[in-house]
Amino acid sequence: MRIVVLDMNHTFFQPEESSQPEGQIIDSTSFHSAVESSCASAPIDKPRSNCAIVGVYAHPEAAKLVYSSLYALQHRGQESSGIVSSDGQNLFRHVGMGLVTNVFADAAIFDKLPGNLAIGHNRYSTTGSTVLHNAQPFVVSAKHGLMAVSHNGNFINSRSLRKKLEDEGSIFQTTSDTETILHLMAKSPAPDIAGRLKDTFRQLKGAYSLVILTRSKLIAVRDPRGWRPLNIGRKNQAWIIASETCAFDLLEAEYVREVEPGEIIVIDQNGLHSDFLEEKAERAACIFELVYFSRPDSKIFDENVDRARRRLGKNLANEHPAQADIVISVPDSSNTAALGYARNSGIKFEIGLIRNHYIGRTFIHPDQIGRDANVRIKFNPVKGVLNGKRIVLVEDSIVRGTTLKHLVRMLRKAGAKEVHVRVSSPPIISPCYYGMDFPTKDELIANNKSIEEIKNYLEVDSLEYLSVEGLLKSVPHEKGGYCTACFTGRYPLPPEEVMRKFEQDSNNGHLDEASVNDEQKTPVAI
Ligand code: SF4
Repeated sequence: MRIVVLDMNHTFFQPEESSQPEGQIIDSTSFHSAVESSCASAPIDKPRSNCAIVGVYAHPEAAKLVYSSLYALQHRGQESSGIVSSDGQNLFRHVGMGLVTNVFADAAIFDKLPGNLAIGHNRYSTTGSTVLHNAQPFVVSAKHGLMAVSHNGNFINSRSLRKKLEDEGSIFQTTSDTETILHLMAKSPAPDIAGRLKDTFRQLKGAYSLVILTRSKLIAVRDPRGWRPLNIGRKNQAWIIASETCAFDLLEAEYVREVEPGEIIVIDQNGLHSDFLEEKAERAACIFELVYFSRPDSKIFDENVDRARRRLGKNLANEHPAQADIVISVPDSSNTAALGYARNSGIKFEIGLIRNHYIGRTFIHPDQIGRDANVRIKFNPVKGVLNGKRIVLVEDSIVRGTTLKHLVRMLRKAGAKEVHVRVSSPPIISPCYYGMDFPTKDELIANNKSIEEIKNYLEVDSLEYLSVEGLLKSVPHEKGGYCTACFTGRYPLPPEEVMRKFEQDSNNGHLDEASVNDEQKTPVAI
């Protein structure tokens, strides 16, 4: 491959005549502070969501549609964003660190992303560090041609496969486990892309929803357990693939169906073709997507998230009633469950906490505003609503409990007479190996303390969690089962390799440590 550097931001990767005579990859980047972006959008003390993936086929402004979809899916990843488009001959790539609106702030970028096909990615890293070379989509020029990939999920055996590939001479450009897919596909002797995917995922195990772009095809793949959501939409003649259907709503596209677990979708000039990976498995859709991660206005796993969350709240009210005057939520992710709780308990729902959505990079130093500063920057109590009231505070999940402890203190200062916390999911006792970034097992409060001890730590009048049975009763089962491992410790696919998030970085020697903030250095198991 011949590399021609044009300027600081644009590089041409030109295949040699013999390897791939047609087509080239045209690459550009922009940089915005990942620290700033994660402050802007990430909730405090919650597991971090993984990634958003999007693909568009047969639309004259494919890159712009991908951009709008990534904007709708910003909640699934705020560290980096990127788009690769194809005009049928070349692949064009633009990636950068930061939020979608920062990375694509200059409208002229879209002049450099021509073509009717495009894929995109918002990243929150669950393996590999927060640096530009890990920003997706990745692009390669392999013996089968040009290819770009966006991945949502985590593999459980990528470390040993990567080592094997490196021992055989493969050179990795990034520290992300996604790159392993490209190396395995490049080695496959299969004549078509579906065959190469089957060869790859005979070896690589774990959670994956993927969109892949070649010069003329859009491909979508979902792992046999269907851990992460992936949906198919239609806008006139164009096909759209997206992690959640809120992306279709913004584009005024119709929801067609989800990509089935284990399904390979290939969209080309002859339409949409469906095939399946060889591995068969029980569905294990991530139930936490319905509890917290996905947007309530989305449909995932063929279910409206809003409807599932209301049922969580209703079942919570049935299991754990409280003597109280009002129900309030920890906004925004607990709003719908709180509405469900209020409906079934007959206790009035009120807005008792206001969340500031526009924090961004703040120059307010905690010392200036004293105790509970980090939480007070993000939430403010409505004193007129809370004063003198017995309150049910509905929260969707408790990880370390630090944020909730501060919130309870704020509610009491605002005049709350009693605070009864109700959690619309069971205690989190185990980490996630399938693409969600949880703290370590030792940091999970429910792993170390009994419910009574957590109640005392939070200084609340009562604390109750939804049971695992109540959780499962709140979600539909027509299409199969769910992963509940973080609540039960029962892993659908036991991790073969427990590793720390930055282990691959330290092996690779080109980690830009300075660009990783302390919070992002928190080790996680994958
Ligand atoms: S362990 Fe929890 S967060 Fe991870 S996939 Fe399973 S249900 Fe989802």
